[in-house]
Amino acid sequence: MISYQIVEHGKPLQKVLKETPKPQGTEVLVRITRSGVCHSDLHIWDGYFDWGGGKRFYVKERGCVPPFTMGHEPFGVVEALGPRARGVKVGQNRLVFPWIGCGKCPVCKDGLDNYCMQPRFIGIQRPGAYSTHILVPHPKYLIDSSGVDDAFAATLACSGLTAYSAIGKLPKLNARDWVAVIGCGGLGLIALSILKAKGVRHVVACDVDEAKLAAAKKLGAKATLDTRAPDAAQKLAQIAGGYLAAAIDFVGMPATHAVAYPALRKGGRYILCGLFGGELTLPMPPIAQRAVAVMGSYVGNLQELKEVVALAKKKKIQRSPVSTIPAEQVNKALEDLKAGKVLGRVVLSLE
Ligand SMILES: [Zn+2]
Ligand SMILES: [Zn+2]
Repeated sequence: MISYQIVEHGKPLQKVLKETPKPQGTEVLVRITRSGVCHSDLHIWDGYFDWGGGKRFYVKERGCVPPFTMGHEPFGVVEALGPRARGVKVGQNRLVFPWIGCGKCPVCKDGLDNYCMQPRFIGIQRPGAYSTHILVPHPKYLIDSSGVDDAFAATLACSGLTAYSAIGKLPKLNARDWVAVIGCGGLGLIALSILKAKGVRHVVACDVDEAKLAAAKKLGAKATLDTRAPDAAQKLAQIAGGYLAAAIDFVGMPATHAVAYPALRKGGRYILCGLFGGELTLPMPPIAQRAVAVMGSYVGNLQELKEVVALAKKKKIQRSPVSTIPAEQVNKALEDLKAGKVLGRVVLSLE
């Protein structure tokens, strides 16, 4: 099999030829045809996340040690089954759920693999899909996405799922309540279509880019806000008429928090998904007095991905622009993503 590996953080990935593994037990060998390039791969490639104040979290602490193959948006064809793998057949096209836990602990048994303390995430702890083949521990992690374009289906494994799971964390909304979507890149735009599918009508889209705000408006955002305005937090509260029930932050930096969090109504939620980086210092009494929540949302669980795929099959999710490129160009794709030159998503073709 051919893999495109990080041999040294921040340096170009290298094409490595290795023997294709044989599936054991319940494992399934999937021949990858499409592999999404996610923004979070840039952090893994760099080797760290920015924790603000000069602090860094190094991905090696999470078991991500080079040589390593990234890629957590895998789509492919079942190529071989371990002796105890049931429920899929060789030759079937499948989307792979990548956020796999240990499979044994109570949270995994509850189907919340993404909360497992011993994760085996594909492309994070296990070899990922920037490769012609991956081993999936169990057939239950394979999802039939027939009817959805393969490259778009691949992107649902992370970006679609992340938006969907964050929306699942909204507080109970009343008729006056508003929801803000902060950052109208790929994730924000998917979030807008999922909110629409769920019947949430009062949505305000926030960004610093006019073109992205226009795209958000087209997708049905009831209001838009250019957050470069110095009084953006007040404006956001005004748009919501004082009823901003939640803000989902797909950027995740002090500047976006400074717009979203003060604008929340009492009992509101600031839901953080973006990993741009930085740190927060918050006065404590108002958190209690306003009964607000600062909560994180990281990817999602298997059931949620099945629900996202079901929405995509019903054409309820806006298909973000996807460009498919040969896997040999992975380094260019990463460079372009880093330079902010990518509109929508890039997906590698490994055929
Ligand atoms: Zn991702
Ligand atoms: Zn577990």
